[in-house]
Amino acid sequence: MQITAEDLELIEKYNRPGPRYTSYPPANHFRDYANPAPLLGSVEEGDAPLSLYFHLPFCETLCWFCGCHTITTLDHDRGHEYLDLLEQELELFARHVPAGRKAAQLHFGGGTPNFFRPEQIDRLAALIDRHFTFLDDAEKSVELDPRRLTKEHVQAFARMGITRASFGVQDCNEEVQKAIHRIQPQSMNIEAMQTLRENGFESVNLDLIYGLPKQSPESFSETLEQVLTLKPDRFAIFNYAHVPWMKPAQKLLERHGLPSAETKMELLRLCIERLTAEGYVYIGMDHFALPTDELVHAQREQTLQRNFQGYSTRAGVEICGFGISSISQGAVGFRQNVKDLETYRARLAKGELPITKGYEFTEEDKLRGDIIMRLMCDLSLDFGAMGEKWEIDFREHFAAAIEQLHEPAADGLIVWTDRGFAVTERGRLFVRNLAMCFDAYLEPATEGRYSKTV
Ligand code: SF4
Repeated sequence: MQITAEDLELIEKYNRPGPRYTSYPPANHFRDYANPAPLLGSVEEGDAPLSLYFHLPFCETLCWFCGCHTITTLDHDRGHEYLDLLEQELELFARHVPAGRKAAQLHFGGGTPNFFRPEQIDRLAALIDRHFTFLDDAEKSVELDPRRLTKEHVQAFARMGITRASFGVQDCNEEVQKAIHRIQPQSMNIEAMQTLRENGFESVNLDLIYGLPKQSPESFSETLEQVLTLKPDRFAIFNYAHVPWMKPAQKLLERHGLPSAETKMELLRLCIERLTAEGYVYIGMDHFALPTDELVHAQREQTLQRNFQGYSTRAGVEICGFGISSISQGAVGFRQNVKDLETYRARLAKGELPITKGYEFTEEDKLRGDIIMRLMCDLSLDFGAMGEKWEIDFREHFAAAIEQLHEPAADGLIVWTDRGFAVTERGRLFVRNLAMCFDAYLEPATEGRYSKTV
């Protein structure tokens, strides 16, 4: 795998802090809401199917690279109290949902959803069923940690109709695993995969991370060979986001030194080369899927969506998040729950929804959010179609953005087409930079807010 001098120049030029665009505007633009009533408009009056997200924050140990909102504890009884609180939140929330509005998606994220004991998972399923009905083709998924997974956990999730799972491997190399404080032998991955398949999980996604200490193209090649033997349906290969000012444990990774941007790019290229040779389709940003996967069909039809949970095929859903730090998204805007358990408990005790922050979209936000989503999902942009959809003269409205795109075009990151532009293979690695041209909120000095784009 050769990185050319030209590649190095591009990295030098484009590797700067920038949002990951799982939302637009990014979450750092949310503001405090003492009264969340305006944020609930689309829940009360909309008719889009619901997409339910539950944040289950507990982990037995902390992986030092982790950017999620977690609580580290060995006390599994804490799961009971958390379920009591979720029960209260669901009861308060359900009062805002008109009867008959159904859910199209259910997702458990964390933390470690399988930190909860199987009987606690059954209780959670009963709570959800008490308040929501699902469409027949609802998609139900869970994030799992193979290090804590038993057959009983998998069976409990299967009992509530979950057929999709995602589990973190990150890296198979023992030295890397020691450096990130996550020891996970391949035997655990094999066992997790077998148990999931035996229990009817039809789609399994594996997460890897590139940019961790001690990773090299040689070691990562071996990781790729090992994970390919597991035959997952999808891969998410995340660019490690080093944000120690937000996640102090990440400082511990600096002891070993972090790979350079050039090495990171080499690792990503390796993934693209190896996984596509194995038949996976590179969807964009950080996701790969088998050609038969619905994400691949959706990308072809230009209906792929991107939200806080990654890529999805369900457009226009009302995302309703529950639990600490969860983010919801509807037609009105975003709302975010309080991040700490004490405040979450106190707000619920007062009979209040635990929403603390939010954002109400302007028309311009909706337009720019749509453009960024289409760019990141389709890897192209059709100015004509966007102009018609939003009833604007696209070239006039986005003259400044188009001007900014001339430089990436000259660098071979995009090619102009009759109706707009398409991202080149080289440009795929810099798609966040391309999206940044359409971001009205980017400040010149974004250092200290976002991770770097490469
Ligand atoms: S990576 Fe997963 S298991 Fe590790 S601390 Fe983060 S949420 Fe917990």
